[in-house]
This record gives sequence, structure tokens and C-alpha cells, in this order.
Amino acid sequence: MTEEGESAPTVAVVGGGAVGVTAAHDLAARGADVTLYERDELAAGSSGRAAGVLYDAYAEDVDAAVGARALERFRAFDRSLPGFSFSPCPYVIAVREGDPDADAVPAMVERMRAHGREVSLVDPDALGERFPALRTDDLAVAAVAEGAGWTDPPSYVRALGRRAAREGVAVETETPVALGPRTDAGREIRGRDAGADGNSGAETRAFDAVVVAAGAHTRSLLADAGVSVPVVPYRVQALVCPEPYDGPMVYDATADAYLRPHPDGLLAGDGTEPVPADPDGYRREADDWFREDVAAVLDERLGRDGRTEQIDPDADVSRSWAGLCTATPDGDPLVGPVDADETAGRDSIGAPAPSLFVAAGWQGHGFMRAPAIGETVAEGVLASLAGVASDAPDSPWIGAFDPARFDGDEAFEIAEGMSLSNRTEGE
Ligand SMILES: Cc1cc2nc3c(=O)[nH]c(=O)nc-3n(C[C@H](O)[C@H](O)[C@H](O)COP(=O)(O)OP(=O)(O)OC[C@H]3O[C@@H](n4cnc5c(N)ncnc54)[C@H](O)[C@@H]3O)c2cc1C
Repeated sequence: MTEEGESAPTVAVVGGGAVGVTAAHDLAARGADVTLYERDELAAGSSGRAAGVLYDAYAEDVDAAVGARALERFRAFDRSLPGFSFSPCPYVIAVREGDPDADAVPAMVERMRAHGREVSLVDPDALGERFPALRTDDLAVAAVAEGAGWTDPPSYVRALGRRAAREGVAVETETPVALGPRTDAGREIRGRDAGADGNSGAETRAFDAVVVAAGAHTRSLLADAGVSVPVVPYRVQALVCPEPYDGPMVYDATADAYLRPHPDGLLAGDGTEPVPADPDGYRREADDWFREDVAAVLDERLGRDGRTEQIDPDADVSRSWAGLCTATPDGDPLVGPVDADETAGRDSIGAPAPSLFVAAGWQGHGFMRAPAIGETVAEGVLASLAGVASDAPDSPWIGAFDPARFDGDEAFEIAEGMSLSNRTEGE
């Protein structure tokens, strides 16, 4: 909040996905003068293509705290945000017999529990008794996270976008922007088609702070401002099939596929292509191999009594699509200031506060963490503008997500975000 008599800080948020909309809403709710720029419609990016699986079952302490806060807000929005609903639903992590990852599951569950998450190790027989829709006789071990659920991701973005507008956010859709330099007036934003003189295309405006939450476009957008971040897009896939399903959400870790109930039947996905994808040129339709693989996993996992018909990857799939996730070298996101070099030693008189911030690199977990991350961004930006160093004890920024831990030009392998080996590595 600004002191009486001071003008509100001006903040531009670039990207109208779940993260950008939440950050814009939360910044405005804390008194900032916010403009949200989206090059298309709200939820046109990954948030409009996400599966909407939400859970807090993380083994690492920071992730568990972020997951818990996000789920708390999803539940609160279910009560208070028109157009949004959260459907509670347990989340099962299942590992098949013969999968070496099975050995790591008990310790992973212990760590989740140590962070206060309601997760338990379950014997496959007991799992089958609790959830008769599932076949469990081929499993070595399973865990059930109770504090989970699902939603329709674009409805969250649109509903919070409407609320953000009511909080005073100027929501500029159909407005692609580029980052300009930092001037005495602040960090510049330009219409993306503006010429070198900045006079053609949309207006050029300077803000006290600019937050880049541009999903798969984050790296290229920041590169224009001379900032290099190791946030690499990769392609994942999902489908909906009209198979009646009222069981839990399931992540079959051995098959690397997940499923959840859906109003039209069930939604299933993964189909990770662990290679860099072009955010402007990737294939938006799902691949045949993905539909075939998922149909086979569903046949194996859905073991209801009397079930004889196999799922046909063509005839039984009503919708299938691909979208982009973003990877980072260590699997953690980049959330915080990225022009720290310019502001090093800002405790000394006259040094400027950071003006450019990033929130990206979710490794497939951006939607479910958006309510917590958006809040952190809002509080972090305002603290940074007020002169609080990002590594100060009272800084809202999360140290493990500090963009400064990377140079930006790191070469790294893209790791699938949900895999157990990613989640069971030591803290
Ligand atoms: C098939 C699939 C299933 C998934 N399932 C899940 C799931 O179950 N749970 C989960 O947590 N996550 C899931 N994800 C990941 C999730 O979609 C992302 O992590 C999350 O949506 C990222 O949100 P965001 O706001 O950071 O980015 P986005 O939603 O991509 O938003 C970025 C926005 O920036 C805009 N933009 C880009 N460049 C510019 C520019 N120059 N000017 C203005 N605007 C610009 C884009 O148009 C876009 O709307 C899934 C992803 C896919 C593809």
C-alpha cells in the first residue's frame, strides 16, 4: 500500500494466463495501478490448454508451502469467485510392479507428511477396495493425496480477469507488447509492432515495474531487453474421452500418464516431448502415438468389473490437443527481479529499485501454483519497489526461485515435470 499523498506504483503485467491474471489482481488489491497486457484473449496460452489437476503433494518444503497456499486459495475462490469452481478429488500416485521408482515412494510420502500434507502410503489391495473404478493388482505401491482436486483452467483465468478489472486493472487484450529500455520515467513497454522509433503500433509507456508472465514466450520477450533466462518451452498433450469415470485422479508414474474425472467423461494426458518447442510454431494437435499410448494406459488402469470394451484411440477420443510447458535447469521456476545487476548495492543512496520481474518455468505445475505464485509476485514487486532487498529476511520473494541463480545461457536436458525421479530427489 502507498502512503497517503504518494501516488500508487504503476505496474505492467505481460501475459494474461493464470499467473499473470493472479499477479495483476493481487497487485491491484494491494493498491498498485496495474495494466495487464495479453497479446490474444485471456487464457489463450498454456492456461487455456491445461488439464486442471490441482494438488499440494510435494516432498520439498518450499513446494509444499506454495502448493498448500494455492489449494487454500482455490477453495476460497470456489466460495467467492463467480464462474469458478473447484471439485475436491483425491490424487493417487501409482507405481507398477518392477518399476525401480517404487522403492522411493515411502520416503517421498514421509517427506510430504512432514510438511503437513495429507498424503498416505496405500497397499494396492486397499486402494482397489477404496476406488473400485481402478485396477490395482499390477501395482507395487501407491500413495493417496487427499488435499487435491480439479477445475477448468480457463474459467479460473477469465473469472479472475473479471475480478481484476473490477479491482481497477486495465485489461488490454489483443495487445502484444515488447520490453523497452529502462529510462528515467521507468521500464518501457512498447506495442510489439512498434518501429525502431516506437511511433508505429501501440503506445509506449513507462512503468515503475514490469512483470513478465508470458509463459512459453518469456525467454524471447526478456531477450529483447537483454535479459537471458533458461526457460525452455516443451510440448505436452491431453485428451478427453467420453468414458464414464467417477474415480480419483491418478498419476500412473510408470506409464508417465495421468487421468481425472471430467464433465464429459475423463481427461487424460502427458505425452511429453522432451525437446525445445517453438512457441509460435509448435503443433497444436495431439499426435497419434499419444492417443494410442493413453488409450492403452486407460485400458490397463480402468479395471471395472465386467469391462470388456477397449478404448479406441480414434473413435473414443472426443478431443485431443497439445500445449506448452516450460522447463528450467533445476526444475524450479524463476520468480523475482531480473535486473538485479543494475540495482546491485541499492542500499546505497540513489540506487534504483529493480523494475523488471519474471514469473515462469513451471515444469508442468504452473496452473496449480498460480494462486500462490501470483500472490508472491504481487507482494514481492511492491516490497522491491519499496526498497526491500530480495534476499532480506522480510522479503516475500522465495530464495529457491530466485532468477539470479542462473546465468541464463545454461544448456540442460528437459525433464518431464511430474516424474517421480524429479520429485523424489533429496531436498
Ligand atoms: C496439455 C497441458 C496440460 C497441463 N496440465 C496442467 C495441470 O493439470 N496442472 C498444472 O498446474 N499445470 C498444467 N499444465 C501447465 C500449465 O498450463 C502452465 O504451467 C500454466 O498455465 C502457466 O501459466 P502462465 O500464466 O505462466 O502462462 P500462460 O497461460 O501461457 O500465459 C502466458 C500468456 O502470455 C501471453 N503473451 C505471450 N507473449 C506476449 C506478449 N509479447 N505480449 C502480451 N502477451 C503475451 C500469451 O498469449 C499467454 O496468454 C498443463 C499444460 C498443458 C499444455
